[in-house]
Amino acid sequence: KSKDTGKNKFTIFDSKMEEELNRNTLIVEVLRNAIDNKEVYIQYQPLIELETTTVIGYEALMRIRSERLGSITPEEFIPIAEESGLIIELSSWLLKEVCNFNKELIDMGIPPRPVSVNISSIQINRPGFISLLREVLEETGLPPQYLELEITESSLVSSIMDATELLNTLQELGVKVSLDDFGTGYSSLNYLTKMPINTLKIDKSFIDNICYSEKDSQIAKSIIQLAHSLNIKVVAEGVEYENQLALLKEQKCDIIQGFIYSGPLHAPALIDMIRKA
Ligand code: C2E
Ligand code: MG
Ligand code: MG
Ligand code: MG
Repeated sequence: KSKDTGKNKFTIFDSKMEEELNRNTLIVEVLRNAIDNKEVYIQYQPLIELETTTVIGYEALMRIRSERLGSITPEEFIPIAEESGLIIELSSWLLKEVCNFNKELIDMGIPPRPVSVNISSIQINRPGFISLLREVLEETGLPPQYLELEITESSLVSSIMDATELLNTLQELGVKVSLDDFGTGYSSLNYLTKMPINTLKIDKSFIDNICYSEKDSQIAKSIIQLAHSLNIKVVAEGVEYENQLALLKEQKCDIIQGFIYSGPLHAPALIDMIRKA
């Protein structure tokens, strides 16, 4: 009897794997044609400066909505795009779109603000990455200080290029750099002191607990203090509640990104929000 159950379990596991494999294959197909089929688009989430409660920037977030599979979350499709190599094409497309968009806003007379773009470790490790950046900035005419690259610690650590060298090159180019998802990976404070970065983003998973864990709250406070001593601005990601906001204000956090102010928006809604402020 026990043998039967074992076999059964194995079969269930097997068909689950097969299902996943099929969905994976379908997603790869969707991603491969997403640009041509206009099934990829971009939303922008405002970043709010606490002191002035104004929009001081916006993060570009990639979205996929396909006829075949409906909406697919970035959590699901980004890893598949990375494994399949399709991230290269998709993110080059996104970079151009986003720089173009931000240049258009400037041309509309809207006071310029940086647009942030998530950069995958696959992109960073490509030899052509810096030249792509140069090319896109030149083609779109976006002044480099209005582009901010969001890079995670883990992709810096695994970078083939020396991390400091890469960051120095980016600083020379004039683009801004922010360290994304801080608090989830290596999060070495020592590392931070050596990195030429402009902004540090404390990850949502960490922000979630700051009101309930004295330890997390103390860590957040220390991170903010250290960042400030290094002339680095701090963004709190995924702020949803008033009590989080109050605590972060008290701790002198600079910038908030979260549903408490706004979720990711379509371009027209973002423009509306900026104009109303
Ligand atoms: P991330 O860069 O840390 O982006 C922030 C994520 O947190 C976004 O999810 C955003 O919608 C979500 N978020 C912001 N505020 C709140 C909040 O108050 N509550 C909740 N529940 N969520 C909030 P999204 O758009 O699903 O993106 C997830 C991740 O996918 C991103 O995390 C980023 O790592 C990746 N990603 C998204 N777009 C791109 C892209 O164009 N390129 C690359 N390489 N990765 C991307
Ligand atoms: Mg990000
Ligand atoms: Mg983030
Ligand atoms: Mg995050």
